[in-house]
Amino acid sequence: MNRRTFLGTSLAGLSTLVWNPVSWAQGSPNLGSPTLPDPGFKRMQLGKLQVVALNDGIGRRPLVDGFVRNAPLDQVKALLASQNLPTDYVDVPYTPFVILDGDKRYLLDTGFADNGPPNSGKLHANMKAAGIAPESITDVIISHYHGDHINGLRYKNGDWVYPNARVHVSAPEHAFWTDPDRIAKAPEAMKGAFAAVQRTLGSVPADKLMKFEPGAVVAPGITSMAAFGHTPGQCAFMVESDGQRFAYIADITNIPALFARNPDFAVMFDMNPDQARETRRTVLAMLARDKILTGGFHFPFPAMGTLVPEGQGYQFVPAN
Ligand SMILES: [Zn+2]
Repeated sequence: MNRRTFLGTSLAGLSTLVWNPVSWAQGSPNLGSPTLPDPGFKRMQLGKLQVVALNDGIGRRPLVDGFVRNAPLDQVKALLASQNLPTDYVDVPYTPFVILDGDKRYLLDTGFADNGPPNSGKLHANMKAAGIAPESITDVIISHYHGDHINGLRYKNGDWVYPNARVHVSAPEHAFWTDPDRIAKAPEAMKGAFAAVQRTLGSVPADKLMKFEPGAVVAPGITSMAAFGHTPGQCAFMVESDGQRFAYIADITNIPALFARNPDFAVMFDMNPDQARETRRTVLAMLARDKILTGGFHFPFPAMGTLVPEGQGYQFVPAN
């Protein structure tokens, strides 16, 4: 399928698939609250750079049919049970990363700030605990335009959270979500997602919005990689210093206990599940083969580690 076809057709059938803060917020109260990591940050040295994982919170939602779009619930529960994980709910963490490079401070994705569901919006407290002031962030780099990755650019009151930062975005992702025609024709269930984009990335001053083509070097040592499928223009990022590498793979996989262990499982948020699966298979195989330190936005804290072959897929082994 060429890109034109994909961009044109990918809204079809999306109505139930879109990230929706309301459904997360309405999780059953009987499920209890997730345990947030304390401290909620972790530093790793990567050559001359530092990588800091920063937890923005954890969403807990009942595990229901449809979270994995293409597998029966009992199969999904069996995979969780085999790892001694709960089967009546899933905990989905949110973990932006900061790359420290001297005076340059790159934030990869934003979390929610004060726009999110319960147990979210913890990024700032964790940033401060790690000694990083929001005003000191020089660049924000966005993987894709789903709400949990972009809403934290702006507070609810409209103020910019990172007043001194430029914002780097994938050109095809930006084109998809800001196309006036597509916005006008958006189905009801998609309107919120488009509105979140308008509220945040649709209003970044032009001189602060830097569009990059997938594959381009975004900043010294930080190279983007096309990771299409989850969204039409999602990018991952390879960070490199002195021969050491860290791959931030955003939402190529949602929680690894399901979607790395079985890369053929499609999470409900994958907009083009077939393309997302192909991307997931290819990228996870490369990361496991080359034993690359890997960070995932929805990985359990510290949200970075390695992927080791296991069964039909990969086991996430957290860094220590
Ligand atoms: Zn996400």
